[in-house]
Order: sequence, then C-alpha cells, then structure tokens
Amino acid sequence: MQTTIVRGGRVLDIRAHRADPADILITGDTITEIGAPGLDAPADATSLDASGTLLQPGLINAHTHAHGNLAKGMGDLWTLELLLTAGPWISGARTQAERQLSAKIGAVEMVLKGCTAAYDLPLEFPAPTLEGLEAVGRGYAEVGLRAVVAPMVADRSFFEAIPGLLGALPPELQKAVETLRPVPWQTSIESMRAALKGWTLDRGHVRLGIAPTIPHHCSDEFIRACADLAKEHGVGLHSHVAESKVQAIVGLQRYGKTLTAHLDALGALGPHFTVAHGVWLDDDDMRRLGDHGASVAHNPGSNMRLGNGFADMHNMLRRRVNVGVGTDGANCSDNQNVYEGMRLASLVSKGRTPDVERWVTTTDAALAATEGSARALGYEGRLGRLAPGYLADIVFLDLEHPNWLPVNDPTNQMVHPEDGSGVRDVMIGGRLVVKDRRVTTVDMAALRRDAEAARRRLTEVNAPTKALCERLAPVVGRYCPGLAHMPYHIDRYV
Ligand SMILES: [Zn+2]
Repeated sequence: MQTTIVRGGRVLDIRAHRADPADILITGDTITEIGAPGLDAPADATSLDASGTLLQPGLINAHTHAHGNLAKGMGDLWTLELLLTAGPWISGARTQAERQLSAKIGAVEMVLKGCTAAYDLPLEFPAPTLEGLEAVGRGYAEVGLRAVVAPMVADRSFFEAIPGLLGALPPELQKAVETLRPVPWQTSIESMRAALKGWTLDRGHVRLGIAPTIPHHCSDEFIRACADLAKEHGVGLHSHVAESKVQAIVGLQRYGKTLTAHLDALGALGPHFTVAHGVWLDDDDMRRLGDHGASVAHNPGSNMRLGNGFADMHNMLRRRVNVGVGTDGANCSDNQNVYEGMRLASLVSKGRTPDVERWVTTTDAALAATEGSARALGYEGRLGRLAPGYLADIVFLDLEHPNWLPVNDPTNQMVHPEDGSGVRDVMIGGRLVVKDRRVTTVDMAALRRDAEAARRRLTEVNAPTKALCERLAPVVGRYCPGLAHMPYHIDRYV
C-alpha cells in the first residue's frame, strides 16, 4: 500500500485554537500517525513538503444541488417559491452528459475552495434513474470529491403542494402546470430501489441517499416508503424542512402540526436524517431532532439570498442537534464556498442578537463545517478531523497568504478571515486533487467548452418552459407573500 509522509506543516486543532508543527503519516487513504516533526516513516514512503502551510481537515458541504451549477447567475429577485417556479426552466431538459457536467463544475469549485466532500440533492424530472444518478456520481468521481448523492423526489407538484395556489392560477395556466406533476410515488421508489441495488460506482467515494424533497410535496405514504427504503439500505434521508415561512405555515395548515412533528409521526426522524435549512424550526422541533440524533444542514447564505430568514444555530446546538454547514445550490446561493458558509454561520448568529451567550463561536462554526457535516453525510469518525484512523482529506492553507499574516488564532482565522483564497493544495484520500491552486484531475479548457455548449443548447430547448415560468411567476409572487405575512402560531391552525 502506498505510504505518504507530509512534513513541515502546522496541524490545526480546532478545539484548542492551536496549530503546532507536526508530520502526518498516511497509509493508503487513511491517516495512520501524527507526530512531532521528524516522525518515522517507511523508507519507501513518498515525502510531501508542507512547509509554510497550515493543515486543516477538508471542509464538508452538508447541502448542495449538482444541477444548480449550470444554472448559476440566472436569477436575482427570487424567493424560494419563485425559485421553485423557475425550476423547470433553469434545471429542465438536461441530458445525462449535462447532469455529469453540472456535478463536475460544482466539484471543481468545491475542491478549489477547500471542500473535500458534499451532500448533493440532484434533480431528475419526472423521476430519478440509475443512469442519471450515476452520471452525477461520475461527475464527482472524475474530480475526486467525495459525495452522497440523494435525488430529490416528490409526488406533488409545487402548485399542488401549496393550498389554494392552483386555484389562484387562471384556467389555462392550471392546465399548463399539469405537465409539471411528478410520477406516482411507487414509480420513484422502484427507481430508487433499482439504483441502490445497481450502483456501480465505488460506494466508499460516492454513495446514494434519498431526499423526499419537501415534506408537503410528498404524500404520507411516499415519505414512509422513503424512510423504509433508507433504513433497508442503510443510507441517509434528507429533506428541505421549514426552509421558508410559507412552508412552515403550509405545514400547520395541512397537518395541524409543524413539519418536523409530522415527519416524526411518520417515523422519518433518526440519526440518518438531515433537515436542510430549518430556519422556521421551533423549540419543540429542535428538541425532537436532538432526541433523534438528527442533523440540520445550515445554509445561511441561501437563507438570506432567498429571503427566508436566519436559522438559530446556537439553539440547535443547545438542543443537541448535529449541525453541518452547506452552501445550497449555485442556482440560488451562487458560490460553492464552505468557508463563506462557516463565516456566515458565525455572522448570522451575531446579527440575530446582541446577547453573546447566544452566539455561534468560531469553534462551533468550524466543527459544524467539518465534524458536523461529516456526521450528516454518514462519515462520523472517518471524516472531519486530522487524526489517526481518519481518511486523509486535508487542506493545505498558504501561510504566506494575507489571510494568515500574522497567525494569531488559527481557529478564528479559518472561520473569519479565510475565504478560500488561501487554499494551496487539497488532498482527498491521500491523493492530491488540487496542487498549487490548480485541479490536477480535470482539463479546465475542455470543461469551459462543455459548459458553454450546454448553456447554448439549454437556453434554446428551455425557451418555451421559460416563457411558461414567466407567466406563472407573477401569480406565485402575489400569492405566496400573502401566506408568508400570516402569523406563525400553531394555535391558529389546530
Ligand atoms: Zn436545497
């Protein structure tokens, strides 16, 4: 087995706010020893010079969408509901090659910005297929990024999911949105079962999960079937829960209880369950998630961008919820930069209140983007730390970069000044996928040509869908804010 000795770096200890000089011995894809400079290594070990760098565990993106990367920059004044309305236009009519390309673009951006693994929720309409999921998986595998690929599934369209919205559309638009209805849930379950059985990619590197996309976009039978399938195959379950106030209100209207209480009643919660966003979780919701050992993927950039508000990460941690940090998709939260996610996790908590006791510390934010996200992805004890027994996913930060001049407190500096521009090299499983700020696994000129060709083709084929979405947007834009301005009190709806 290949051994590598990384010599001359300073190894970050997030909890201790220290980065002492140390060498790291890697056997195969795993860290086997960390010790004082001059650590013994086998004679045939490859030596890697890390002098002038700070070594930190790779950041882990707890929530993104592969299809978003070909749709970056397509909108501005979008609430979540307007983004969902635009979905069929900005993410529609993709070929398998374009699915792979979109994942690959995101993977390249993530590794260049110090991220080594991602929880991805791709879209394939009207139902996921083994071919489509493997195309996404190959996009990640080609770059070398680890990923959990959990297809978004639903058995109600957005227009059916929001009470009263369909009726607010003029008759011809009611007819037109019938084409946006997903397949019956049994078809999606069979398709995901086939993908889980037939998966040919290395599951140690890219594996599957299941994402009933938004609770009220799924019938109760469908959510139960997703939960059963996830249990049967030992994979993660991921859902956008209480992301917008509209969703939180609709949950109360439909179920007479919060979306989290509804999922709990359906048996969906557990240590393998991840809530995306959770901006509108109440105290009881957080307690339930904490008691179940569940995770929240906190995406503060997306929450602000889509006007959803500020999730209370401090309270989640107090309720023993595992919190990871995500970027969300490039179609709604722009860049795939987990450093920015970490910094915003810290800043948003500070913007919520002047009471420092209720702030997220840099230690909290850094642990969330490493160990917290690792646990959400099902990699607890294997990713998120630099320690023996952990996979060798290591970011080498350039200590000559202004972000680190001078080094006062490495944990504070990783969360606040560092923005990804200090990333010099990135190792995933002992293999350098970024060296001297360049991706070693991808031909960037070819990637650029492919992206441009895809953009041109998709603009043309999606023009009629764009026209439909542009007619739907004003209705959604009038109807949904009405819901969002209703008071969010459970007593009103029970
Ligand atoms: Zn999302």
